[in-house]
Amino acid sequence: MSLTPAPDQKSAGANSPAPRSAADPRPGLSGLAEGVLEAWLAAEGHPAYRVRQIRDAVWRMNAQTADELNTLPVALRSRVGETFRVDTIAADEVTVADRGLTEKTLHLLSDGALIESVLMHYPARGFQSVGRPTHRERHTLCISSQAGCAVGCPFCATGELGFGRDLEAAEILDQVRHAALRLADGGSGRQLTNVVFMGMGEPLLNLDRVLEAVAALADPRRFGLGARHVVVSTSGVVPGIRRLTQLGPQFTLAVSLHAARDPLRDVLVPLNRRWPVAEVVAAARDHARVTGRRVSYEYVMISGVNDTNADADALGVLLRGDLAHVNLIPMNPVAHTPWQASSPDRVATFAARVRRNGVGVTVRANRGQDAGAACGQLAANRAGEPPAGAVAHRREVIIRQSEAALRGARNTEMPADLQEAVADPITGRGATN
Ligand code: SF4
Repeated sequence: MSLTPAPDQKSAGANSPAPRSAADPRPGLSGLAEGVLEAWLAAEGHPAYRVRQIRDAVWRMNAQTADELNTLPVALRSRVGETFRVDTIAADEVTVADRGLTEKTLHLLSDGALIESVLMHYPARGFQSVGRPTHRERHTLCISSQAGCAVGCPFCATGELGFGRDLEAAEILDQVRHAALRLADGGSGRQLTNVVFMGMGEPLLNLDRVLEAVAALADPRRFGLGARHVVVSTSGVVPGIRRLTQLGPQFTLAVSLHAARDPLRDVLVPLNRRWPVAEVVAAARDHARVTGRRVSYEYVMISGVNDTNADADALGVLLRGDLAHVNLIPMNPVAHTPWQASSPDRVATFAARVRRNGVGVTVRANRGQDAGAACGQLAANRAGEPPAGAVAHRREVIIRQSEAALRGARNTEMPADLQEAVADPITGRGATN
């Protein structure tokens, strides 16, 4: 099946449409809240044990059609298929990179929206003698929480697409089920070991659906993944972080920081214009203190923009003494920016300066360079090249803004999309904060 973007995703950007819902009104089976299936089966006159049969088909067999619910009587299978979507993803297109270690998947949803997930394989290593490796084999899936994104970080292909809509819990979870099915293909016995919410979208602007998905991932009757194996990232939705803190430790929190100084972060992460660095880090610090869980700080390394010694020192001082760890990630090239990744030497120097402050740092390898590595790149490619004039204009704006930032000027103007998206930062939209 060809994967064609929904018309409004294709034209997203500065004039993104109002949020919309998936075109198919039937709820997805994997995302049903506790008790919904039980109540429906009871109302239809079926015994309670059918719940377990359906749940097992969805979560153990990763069923994708009602026909695969083969422990149910035929009539019930077809009633389930009429009432629910067994799978909310209409088609997948998988691109393999890094000699098989990275698989990027473009998923087509029922309304034509395109989202991405990335499956990364980490072979076992550290065999010092005959026996178990010091590092076990891992299979990490990076998933999307929204179609597009309103935050608009200029180094990100998703940000450039603009906001499409929030994903339903089932649309988030079906990315996981598809990857689990592919991993188990051929009876390999391989299983997902980690799930990270670092794909398309800002998870904390779709927090209710993300929390439903996390609950399903943790539930031993459904996916059964331990809280320590789930990471949810945010570009700095402070009320969302505070809500997570109240809920207690459910997963690892990652903050996409990318700059420790407000003028630069205003440009790199436009959400900073609403919640500046000090507020974001204060909320994350409280989260670490209350939950006892270390917070990860993600930092994309952009040559000549945020990788100077002054930036490294500012980052080290900002996080000194915190229960925190920094991940440095060389930027993936995207068409609409003039920026490049920092050199390996610069990344190493930067890391050393941050460590001087007692802050742990890991330098992450770039994955999927040969498969449209940047988040949103596959969907952006599918949407087609923007006109050359638009790209040139976008680059000029980014250069102008970053030069002003390097002179220390703040940019507090909120793009309209982002203004709307943060109107109710707990649920995404609606009431004002
Ligand atoms: S980096 Fe994340 S928060 Fe920023 S635009 Fe991309 S998807 Fe959105």
